[in-house]
Amino acid sequence: MAEAALYDTYSRAPLRFERGEGVWLISETGERYLDFGAGVAVTSVGHSHPHVVGALKEQADKVWHLSNIYEIPGQETLAKRLTDATFADKVFFTNSGAEALECAIKTARRYQFSKGHPERFHIITFEGAFHGRTLATIAAGGQEKYLEGFGPKAPGFDQVPFGDLDAVRSAITNETAAILIEPIQGEGGVRPATNEFLKALRAICDEHGLLLIFDEVQTGMGRTGKLFAHEWSGATPDIMAVAKGIGGGFPLGACLATAEAASGMKAGTHGSTYGGNPLAMAVGSAVLDVILAEGFLQQVRDVSLVFRQGLASLKDRYPDIIEDIKGEGLLLGVKAAVPSSELLQAIRDAHLLGVPAGDNVIRLLPPLVVTADEAREGLARLERAAESVRAAKVKKTA
Ligand SMILES: *Cc1c(COP(=O)(O)O)cnc(C)c1O
Repeated sequence: MAEAALYDTYSRAPLRFERGEGVWLISETGERYLDFGAGVAVTSVGHSHPHVVGALKEQADKVWHLSNIYEIPGQETLAKRLTDATFADKVFFTNSGAEALECAIKTARRYQFSKGHPERFHIITFEGAFHGRTLATIAAGGQEKYLEGFGPKAPGFDQVPFGDLDAVRSAITNETAAILIEPIQGEGGVRPATNEFLKALRAICDEHGLLLIFDEVQTGMGRTGKLFAHEWSGATPDIMAVAKGIGGGFPLGACLATAEAASGMKAGTHGSTYGGNPLAMAVGSAVLDVILAEGFLQQVRDVSLVFRQGLASLKDRYPDIIEDIKGEGLLLGVKAAVPSSELLQAIRDAHLLGVPAGDNVIRLLPPLVVTADEAREGLARLERAAESVRAAKVKKTA
């Protein structure tokens, strides 16, 4: 088998897709699947969005790659648009989420260093977090299953229970630089931090001279019905990591920061060969056109309501299969009352795609362009899946 030539790092589903159209994926054998996984919250404006495809093709005919040795107008344009739309004053472009986090971590440490506090390099993180798979970000995430066998854990990450303010306070020392949190833990099982918690973290950071870093790699770019999830809370970070939905499927990430937080990042302190590549900038700007268009985020919130009502009704009717419904906007979690792998398989059999998460949760992360009709179609498929899991259970106990 040709796949033997690949690293064995992924346990892949035996599905081969050839084409995408909006919220649909079409397999090599011509079967249509409703894609509510969206490449794990990546294809934010759906597959093959004409405006985004057009922007990529247009840029492809001009220039693909330059280098950060030169000025890149596309970077300036996209950075200006991102800072206009957020708390931030400065942007560094990356190719992935983990790199956006690396930049965020380096920015926070370098800030403390530049203020005369090189000893302040520790970052407080939270149990259940996921920040990527680089050596620093697996240390930040603190999950044993990702750390095992890769040598000593990178120093400087102190983990406390999610939502525990007292633990945060007691973890602060004179070596602490920052606090890093996902406003909603995605991989961890769609676990939202409360608005009060995020606001309290902001206050603690201000009190102790720490920087607040939000990882909005999964929650950002309209996923929760606001451009960024923290906007729901009223708490604003100093630094924010963004990726996934920002490129709509093109490898793109960004680290956003206030001018003050980014003040330690002088010429030569950081870099990336591909980061801010003209193709990525053209696509990123086109994706932003769609997400910032009048009424787009309202539509995300409206469709979210259709999902939430439908999911609540399913939970009522299938309490033996669905234990709980979680999430915000179109970052939805179905906590299974059976092993989630069984429900996920049944969902796939119904030609609906979701994404596994921790805590026995299946994530539904449809493209943000999903319509109410498509949402209802997905709910109908989920119901068929729940029905078939129930039937299999009855058969087993009979
Ligand atoms: C996916 C994800 C990352 C890592 O992004 P990569 O592009 O896979 O490096 C980091 N943080 C969060 C919250 C994520 O969901």
